[in-house]
Amino acid sequence: MVRIILVICSVALLLMSALYILVEYFSFKEAEKSKVSTLAVVIASNSSAALAFQSSEDATEILGALRADKYIKAACLYDVDGKVFATYPKNLNHQALPVKPREDSYFFKGKFIEGFQSVKQGNLHLGTLYIKSDLGGLYSRISFNILVAFILILVTLGVGYLLSNVVQRTISQPIIALEQTAKSISEKGDYSIRAIKTGNDELGSLTDAFNTMLNRIEHQNYEIIQVNRESSKLAAIVESSGDAIIGTSSELLITSWNSSAERMLGFTSEEMMGLPVSIILPREQLNLEAITDKLKSGEQLEPIETYFVTKNKELVDISLTISPVKDQVGKVIGMSQIARDITHQKKTERKIVENEEHLRLATQSAELGTFDLDLIAGTMLWDKRCRELFGINHQEPVIYEKDFVKRLHEEDRERIIKETEATFDKGLTSGIYDVEYRTVAETDKRVRWVKAKGRVFFDPHDKPIRFIGSVLDITRQKQDELRKNDFIAIISHELKTPLTTIKSYIQLLLARAQKETDAFGMNALTRADSQTSKMASMIKDFLNLARIEEGKLVLVKEIFDVGILMDNVVSEANFLSNTHDIKVDYCKGFKVNADKEKISQVLINLISNSVKYSQPGTSITVGCAQEGNRLKIFVSDEGVGISPGDQIKLFTRFYRVENDKIKTVSGFGIGLYIVSEILKYHDTKIEVDSQEGVGSTFYFYLEALV
Ligand code: ADP
Repeated sequence: MVRIILVICSVALLLMSALYILVEYFSFKEAEKSKVSTLAVVIASNSSAALAFQSSEDATEILGALRADKYIKAACLYDVDGKVFATYPKNLNHQALPVKPREDSYFFKGKFIEGFQSVKQGNLHLGTLYIKSDLGGLYSRISFNILVAFILILVTLGVGYLLSNVVQRTISQPIIALEQTAKSISEKGDYSIRAIKTGNDELGSLTDAFNTMLNRIEHQNYEIIQVNRESSKLAAIVESSGDAIIGTSSELLITSWNSSAERMLGFTSEEMMGLPVSIILPREQLNLEAITDKLKSGEQLEPIETYFVTKNKELVDISLTISPVKDQVGKVIGMSQIARDITHQKKTERKIVENEEHLRLATQSAELGTFDLDLIAGTMLWDKRCRELFGINHQEPVIYEKDFVKRLHEEDRERIIKETEATFDKGLTSGIYDVEYRTVAETDKRVRWVKAKGRVFFDPHDKPIRFIGSVLDITRQKQDELRKNDFIAIISHELKTPLTTIKSYIQLLLARAQKETDAFGMNALTRADSQTSKMASMIKDFLNLARIEEGKLVLVKEIFDVGILMDNVVSEANFLSNTHDIKVDYCKGFKVNADKEKISQVLINLISNSVKYSQPGTSITVGCAQEGNRLKIFVSDEGVGISPGDQIKLFTRFYRVENDKIKTVSGFGIGLYIVSEILKYHDTKIEVDSQEGVGSTFYFYLEALV
């Protein structure tokens, strides 16, 4: 900068000086010319008399006056004939003078100015004056001017140098600081650096402008980084997506093709770039031109179910979502097409339709009614047959309370509600529903027996969401069963009398064998007696079952001591089986009003179950506990226990738990049913506490009498 200032000053001064010297040169020359001509005119007019009188002395003297001007180097007077008449200096060699005079004129010749001036008297030409003046004054003046200009330039440059140093400090330094800031930003790529403002002048404004520019660059840089980050994220998502993502231009040419598209269609990205999308989505199948128009008009499109044509000319079922790709001003410049492979879903749908048809045919031929409960939406769908079986003839949507609960037979209602609720508890039933109950038709009150089977579906939090099942009319089956019950009742009744007689004779014989100390007879008859008791107990169960089924169970109540009854039952049980340690706990003196024989049957059934379902050698406790005015009677064992799901169904007829541990234990599944029914007749109920692998306690309450 200093250099620039100095060069500019120098050039300006040089130009100015040169111009000045040039002007000086010409004006000095003109001045010299006019001085010489004036001098010549004066000398010429003074010399006219000397020429007229031909006095060379006078003429020489007049010329001698030129001495006063040191630059006049030569002069002469020519006479009228052109001969040299007088010279200056006096003895000047005539060779140095022009040979002839000329017309009046003044001219520059080398370092001299020369001139001719005619000498006249009136109009009479007397001669000519020649004058020669040295231009030495001019050159010494020019030399002086050049010297002055040189000194001036030197002084100016010196002052300029000093000034520019000061100026540099105020102007250059902020600029240098700006330059350094710019340099370190470009080296480090750190756009948070800012230039320091040194004042409020133009340079301060420049620093502000520079910093504002940096702010904008930093902001834009941040935005670019964000955009890059977003777009690389997006690119990664597109690449890793399981869906085929294909970009097309507004001319429907392919512009992008992800790896899932490659996998789904068999074409590579390189193969497809720039090709029309109709290769994989034939026009007759999907009018993409029309779709483009719709997108351009701002319409939103729902996913379309269609198919792709692959490289191998196979068809792939897809769900296609088409969205517009817009430029910065919102103009649609292409489309993005996201395709999900739904081949599997489509196959499943077709399979479902087939299965539904099979199911429909099967339910139709089996006369099965079906129900479908959406537990989230709270809707119940019953088909025609199901409505028939519940005896409802309206076509309105079915309501749980009005159409299901109310149509259940009074005697089955509570049990079925309980079992239905238990089905919704995944932990209890695993969602399996298998029940039998009676329905009473709304219109003609016809009673039907139905068997309902179903399944509850749960969400991941085990919340029931759907309950689907079927209902089958088993009224005829039930009638057959009733007939069978009658048959069992008759047989049991017929067997009971001879069995009682046999038992009496065995006991007579046993008494005699005891008397005669017949060891073999005693042993054989004791066994025969025990087997007869078991048989009698079974026949009692069958008789009770038949009576219960027919609703003909009659109680004969009496007040008796439970402790005594228990002692008898337990000693009978110990007599029948000696594999377990059966004991009675705190039962002495508690009296109840009940059917002694039937309560005894209840206890026998519970004890015989405990014997059947626990390991030999474990103990079984039969006991009482008074709770207020109620007496709790229980039978407790250390057996296999019962799962919560089975506990609910245990008291239904013919229900037997199916598991590996007890599969070899024989039984009919009626013992607990009879227990439950007998206790219902006593206005109480059987309950159970059980844990698998730990044991079970069956208990019931009777009113305690003091
Ligand atoms: P069963 O003739 O099968 O014994 P029950 O009606 O007496 O018929 O019992 C029904 C089912 O209940 C049995 O199959 C058995 O699995 C279960 N059960 C009854 N009592 C017990 C018990 N004390 N311990 C374990 N399981 C029992």
